[in-house]
Amino acid sequence: MTFKQMNISEPVCRALLEKNYSTPTLIQEQAIPEALTGRDLLGLAQTGTGKTAAFAIPIIEQLLADPTSQQKGAPRKIRALILTPTRELAIQIDESLADYTRYTTLRHTVIFGGVKQKSQTDELRAGTDILTATPGRLLDLMSQGFIRLDHVRHFVLDEADRMLDMGFIHDVKRLLPKLPPKKQTLFFSATMPDSIDRLAKSLLRNPARVEVTPASSVVEIISQSVYRVEKPQKKELLAQLLLGEAGHQVLVFSRTKHGADNIARYLSRRGITCESIHGDKSQNSRQRALSNFKEGRSNVIIATDIAARGIDIKGLDLVLNYDLPDVPETYVHRIGRTGRAGCEGRAIAFCSGEEVPMLREIEKLTGIKLEQRKHDLPSLEETKTAPVVNVARKVQAKAPADKQQGKQNNKRREGRKPAEPLKNTQQATVVAEKPKRHNRPAKPILARESQQKQSADKTEQASSRSAKLRSRYENYE
Ligand code: AMP
Repeated sequence: MTFKQMNISEPVCRALLEKNYSTPTLIQEQAIPEALTGRDLLGLAQTGTGKTAAFAIPIIEQLLADPTSQQKGAPRKIRALILTPTRELAIQIDESLADYTRYTTLRHTVIFGGVKQKSQTDELRAGTDILTATPGRLLDLMSQGFIRLDHVRHFVLDEADRMLDMGFIHDVKRLLPKLPPKKQTLFFSATMPDSIDRLAKSLLRNPARVEVTPASSVVEIISQSVYRVEKPQKKELLAQLLLGEAGHQVLVFSRTKHGADNIARYLSRRGITCESIHGDKSQNSRQRALSNFKEGRSNVIIATDIAARGIDIKGLDLVLNYDLPDVPETYVHRIGRTGRAGCEGRAIAFCSGEEVPMLREIEKLTGIKLEQRKHDLPSLEETKTAPVVNVARKVQAKAPADKQQGKQNNKRREGRKPAEPLKNTQQATVVAEKPKRHNRPAKPILARESQQKQSADKTEQASSRSAKLRSRYENYE
């Protein structure tokens, strides 16, 4: 089957050929003919399957066939709306639309939050046929009167499950009544939890259902392995692995924004060119980091889940899960960034003792037991025990009154094997600094306990406050 055989018009076929889309992907083969009839569609597919073209091509074709698009000089009205959860996805979809509509007169615009609205509202004023938007900015510009949706005939809800994860579902529900009732709805989601199923049922009328690569099967073409490594050693192991991956494109996932920056700083100190992307970075710096990465000026990018969602980087060699995600489906989304469009890919995970239950969940979901790899870093036990000797030496050097005792200790030590030299000097230094704390006068137990409780309460309050802020911020990326 070719795009031509699907009755796709010549200008679109030409644009697709220029992008080297010689044959449709599985989701496109199933979705395009159904959507071309104007039917609603329920697509179970994730990024990487070619789903953008699966919804974009039938929309473009229908808009081209609509006589209003032929009228020269007629003001452009938004006739297709694509709603997607993140800025990166929105930009990527709009870039694909630019490619697919290259030889047509259709106009497309993208709007998303986190940047000034002026250039977006200027474009909207000039008129557009296809609008790609994130929910927050869309509602915002609608409330300011820049956008009307009464002419929308095609509506795409992209990554519906992510919308739910990111707390956008209420925004989506607020938007739905603003759309005309008579329209084609194309609903895409990688997974179908109950709430998404209910939303799909409420939105779609007699939809065609197309399904490719349920979340767990994309993993079969990706070679996956795991290192059991404790948290304090992860950075060192990462640096070692990356130094061995020189020239390859590696996407590293960190669970937190702070973690991403931390890793990036460490790797830079180790001479590895890398950048981090997350919700605290400006849109410009995220775009710059992405294009540096895409164009090969940097080989390593460290991202949080939300910033990385939907990133489409050709020839991404390796996905490295520095932290395991809490939700096993997220693991599948993460590693789906490699091994795209049928190419083989690699995924490596780091798993600390406390992450083992997450690893089990991932293995349960994917049905694949990750290959266990061994590293040659010293075990934590080794790094913990060796510095004790240093501590003892330090205390002895500082306390002349204990000289005699120290001598006896030394005599006892002489009979022992010398301590193994530390392979990881950083950890040695950290542990050896600790005794300073013991020099402080001991506090009475009761006071200390209540102080500990107070400080634990404060930390908990602060961390729950910052977690709330964090989740609010991330939601509104
Ligand atoms: P998507 O799932 O839409 O993000 O697409 C994933 C990747 O596959 C993108 O790089 C697309 O450009 C590419 N792609 C989509 N459809 C095709 C096709 N028919 N042939 C080759 N590559 C494609």
